[in-house]
Amino acid sequence: MAKLLLLIALVVIVALWWFGKGRPRPVAERRAEPAGPQSMVACAQCGTHLPAAESVEGEGGRHYCCAEHRRLGPAR
Ligand SMILES: [Zn+2]
Repeated sequence: MAKLLLLIALVVIVALWWFGKGRPRPVAERRAEPAGPQSMVACAQCGTHLPAAESVEGEGGRHYCCAEHRRLGPAR
């Protein structure tokens, strides 16, 4: 009987160790995501580079740094 309890305790310890080891991995992946490379675009009006996510999209798939430059259109 003591051997059975010892075996159960060992299984519990291994299970806790296993799940404890595996848990931090998704957190680390989530933290690494925003640090990944972002695509940069240039404003079609003034040429300022900014992340594509922060740009204002205009006609023909052009990117602008702000609504005012989108209104002015691409530089000539
Ligand atoms: Zn601009």
